[in-house]
Amino acid sequence: MSELQTWGRYRRTPQKSIDHGWRDAPLPSPSLGTMLPYGQGRSYGDVAQNSGGRLVSTRNLDRFMSFDSGTGRVRAESGVRLCDILEVATPLGWYLAVAPGTQFVSLGGAIANDVHGKNHHRAGTFGHHVLRFELLRSDGSRLLCSRDEHPDWFAATVGGLGLTGLVTWAEISLRRIRSTRVDVETIPFASLSEYLALCDSSDETHEYTVGWFDCFSYHGGRFRGLFTRANHADASTPGTRPARALANVPFELPLNVVRPVAMRMFNRAYHRLGRAHAGRVATMPLDRFLYPLDRIGHWNRLYGKLGFLQLQCVIPLEQARSGIEELLDRIAAARQGTFLAVLKRFGAHPPCGILSFPRSGVTLALDFPYRGDATLQLFDALHDSVRRHGGRIYPAKDACMTAATFEAGYPDWRRLEPFVDPAFSSDFWARVTCGHAK
Ligand SMILES: Cc1cc2nc3c(=O)[nH]c(=O)nc-3n(C[C@H](O)[C@H](O)[C@H](O)COP(=O)(O)OP(=O)(O)OC[C@H]3O[C@@H](n4cnc5c(N)ncnc54)[C@H](O)[C@@H]3O)c2cc1C
Repeated sequence: MSELQTWGRYRRTPQKSIDHGWRDAPLPSPSLGTMLPYGQGRSYGDVAQNSGGRLVSTRNLDRFMSFDSGTGRVRAESGVRLCDILEVATPLGWYLAVAPGTQFVSLGGAIANDVHGKNHHRAGTFGHHVLRFELLRSDGSRLLCSRDEHPDWFAATVGGLGLTGLVTWAEISLRRIRSTRVDVETIPFASLSEYLALCDSSDETHEYTVGWFDCFSYHGGRFRGLFTRANHADASTPGTRPARALANVPFELPLNVVRPVAMRMFNRAYHRLGRAHAGRVATMPLDRFLYPLDRIGHWNRLYGKLGFLQLQCVIPLEQARSGIEELLDRIAAARQGTFLAVLKRFGAHPPCGILSFPRSGVTLALDFPYRGDATLQLFDALHDSVRRHGGRIYPAKDACMTAATFEAGYPDWRRLEPFVDPAFSSDFWARVTCGHAK
């Protein structure tokens, strides 16, 4: 038995693993209990946990199978990480069509959560760029899934939270880039309406957009925010030095060092720095822009033994302003804040998978140090606001949504059920389907 953790490190339950790396053997017998694929453990909550059964680590599924540098098609085993793909593809002028906020996730994990990035308004989700994959079921059968072959299995598995079987390999299409550097512009904003106006004027012209705001500064619909938009620089822009890690947190700290005073100071300083750069275009390595948190290895350990929770929700556009303001009012009333507070307007791409999280609207992501019942009560209240505003919570980030909140956000979730492998389950799935007749 060994511990395969969740990124939020909250509520750790010992997990059984299969010798930390499954390869060609048949999947374990269902008589040993349920199983669940485990990629790089970068999901915050419990979608990659299965305390009632086993975890099948894909760490050893780490081989490239083919790369066509003419078309940008890559085929690789599902344990290959996105950073491994970038290492091969970037020097040849190719990049991931969609990249989440960390490059240390596996191909299988990116498919199972149908991850999104700062260019959702342009490129949709990761699943939109998946061409095909092989799905291994617990009965030993293997299905080749694409938009033409077993399309229903394709739609169930993209965003299917690892429940439909184990993706052994996948083929994705990359996109051409003219430079690994980006021209980044930072523009201050002070309300959600201002943020949305900036999205209106930038979504057509800029490949990447994202908003950050100081959660502690929120009062009566106003806050200190920074909108960032970026495009790839000209190929002639010199220098392509990849971003390097700045620091590493080598072990778990006994206490949470992410204190409100420190967060307030950090937020104020960060905003001041952003304002100072407003109106100027800064050129920087794409990796530094896309994966700022990757520069501090194991930053999740800063939250100490109790870990942290993230709320990431999306609220439809019509309700976004009132919904997000209500969320921020509730956070302010609970006197809890965070330095990670991010806004992103999703585009109108039709979802790729049955349970894909992104939908047209505004997504808000906030980290909270776990402080026991007070945090859980706050999350109950926040989930209630999300529900009442027609929104949904992102499973990859969630550790405590109730079955009712899940059903409200994903009214079609039962469409997944016929595809769920009877020998697969997760703590997330057990929680959000509990009380529903199966
Ligand atoms: C710093 C940071 C920033 C992030 N930013 C973003 C972001 O911008 N956008 C976004 O969408 N997400 C983001 N995430 C979340 C992350 O991208 C997802 O949780 C991703 O799915 C993690 O991949 P993983 O390899 O770690 O998978 P795990 O966390 O190990 O597993 C995730 C899910 O995938 C399933 N799975 C894994 N491998 C397979 C397989 N081979 N076959 C079938 N199912 C499989 C698991 O069962 C589980 O349900 C971020 C995470 C971090 C830590």
